[in-house]
Amino acid sequence: MNTDILIVGAGPAGLVAAAELARYGIKVRIVEKTTHGADDPKALFLWSRTLELLDRSGCGATLAAAGHKVTAGSIIAGNKPLGRVDFSQVNSPHPYALAQPQAETERLLEAHLASFGVKVERGSELLSFTETATNVSSLLRHSGGAEEIVTSQWLIGCDGANSKVREALGVPFTGHEQKSGWLLADVRLSGLNFPATELVSFWHEDGYLGFFPRADGLYRVIADLPANGGHAPAAASLEDIQRIVDQRGPGNITLSAPTALSAFHINERNVREYRQGRIFLAGDAAHLHNPAGGQGMNMGIHDAVNLAWKLALVTRGTCGPQRLLESYNAERHAATDQVFVNVGRLTAISVLKNPVAQITRNAFGSILFGLAPARRAIADTLSEVSMGYEHSPLNGSDDRSFPGPGPGERMPPREGEPPFGAGSTPRFALCADLSVEVNELLETYPDLLEPAVRLPVSRRCIWLVRPDGYVAVVALDPDVRVIASYLNSLTQSAL
Ligand SMILES: Cc1cc2nc3c(=O)[nH]c(=O)nc-3n(C[C@H](O)[C@H](O)[C@H](O)COP(=O)(O)OP(=O)(O)OC[C@H]3O[C@@H](n4cnc5c(N)ncnc54)[C@H](O)[C@@H]3O)c2cc1C
Repeated sequence: MNTDILIVGAGPAGLVAAAELARYGIKVRIVEKTTHGADDPKALFLWSRTLELLDRSGCGATLAAAGHKVTAGSIIAGNKPLGRVDFSQVNSPHPYALAQPQAETERLLEAHLASFGVKVERGSELLSFTETATNVSSLLRHSGGAEEIVTSQWLIGCDGANSKVREALGVPFTGHEQKSGWLLADVRLSGLNFPATELVSFWHEDGYLGFFPRADGLYRVIADLPANGGHAPAAASLEDIQRIVDQRGPGNITLSAPTALSAFHINERNVREYRQGRIFLAGDAAHLHNPAGGQGMNMGIHDAVNLAWKLALVTRGTCGPQRLLESYNAERHAATDQVFVNVGRLTAISVLKNPVAQITRNAFGSILFGLAPARRAIADTLSEVSMGYEHSPLNGSDDRSFPGPGPGERMPPREGEPPFGAGSTPRFALCADLSVEVNELLETYPDLLEPAVRLPVSRRCIWLVRPDGYVAVVALDPDVRVIASYLNSLTQSAL
């Protein structure tokens, strides 16, 4: 075996998967067919939950220090403020949306990966692979033309929308492309009377217009175009976007010095299974999101984190493959479906063209945004902290008789404690009062449990928290049998 795991593609999903596996001591190689990092104007925002997940390996703070913290989002309908969502209220160590060009995010993730001794093999392309019962043989072509066959236990295809891995598996990438197009510009602008810590969306009768501040003093401006029968939108010019800004914006905003101008269609696609045997798909290779929703890169990073701790436990021989690895598709597919629904709704209401529908939307919107719990729920959804795995087959029993998160829900990170899943071993955490029974658990499962307990959320319950910070089991203290049987179910048929 040349390596435990071969990762194809060094975009955000591949880089995070490689770094997570490397810090857990798994032998990993990551190949990337291009010789340099991406420079397209792609993802701008890292959301709170993504940064929390990256905190587990010590990388969230580095990204946060480099990016620009956006703490609120406003919606203006016509000339009237309709609502304002305050991200600073999100219960997270990162209560903001972090604006950072994707190229910079990738550069920092690659440096983070290098800190675990793994270098991206640039100029190396996956050409094909074959799978047997015990391994995967992949044919690579390196820059200069030399070919190599790499044998690995597992292969992760993080090779983007045109994934070779997905194509070779022959799995359909189904979905739809919307008829209308969008324009995107990264520009300097003057005349916008909102702080640079705020996203601003205009719901105009002609369509949507959004201003998103970036780390470097620039703004990303996006707008939808009228339906044009499904033709690809013509390449954007600064004049096109300025015209839309003049028409839909508050007036007196001037755009200049564009660093990127592009046009895109919304193209949402998904594969049915993110795993086939020893092959996994993650990120855009598995699901393609509406760029206007700002979730695609974040979702790829969540895939990588979800898969890495499971694969690490299986590869180390601590857990059996079945239960853990089967849960990857169940959990991540459901999360993708939910994001498609959320972003689809938000996009549809933002681009409404029917005047009657617009009046209804604006009336309903102003009631909704007037309610603090609704504003809070919107902020939690956008920042992904309310996202979880409530219906996961990996969830254990729920004996909650006191307040606190249930199985599949995120356990919020706590101040003064290391993040759940930190360190060089993927371990579950026990949030419990110390007792004889709890001590016995710690002694029986040293490979699976953190050596020390953490404070429970409320007394008389014990929370078992997964290495990615989601609750696995809630037991009634001191009945630890449900936790023991849960852990036994994971270790069964360990390699
Ligand atoms: C205009 C635009 C705006 C966006 N804005 C946002 C946003 O604000 N927030 C957000 O979360 N997302 C956003 N996205 C989506 C985001 O850019 C993608 O979801 C993200 O890049 C996916 O990451 P990935 O690692 O899965 O794939 P990619 O970034 O596509 O990386 C795949 C890598 O695999 C390599 N590769 C491909 N084939 C092979 C092979 N055979 N061998 C070796 N290497 C290979 C490629 O060269 C590439 O580097 C936006 C996208 C667009 C287009």
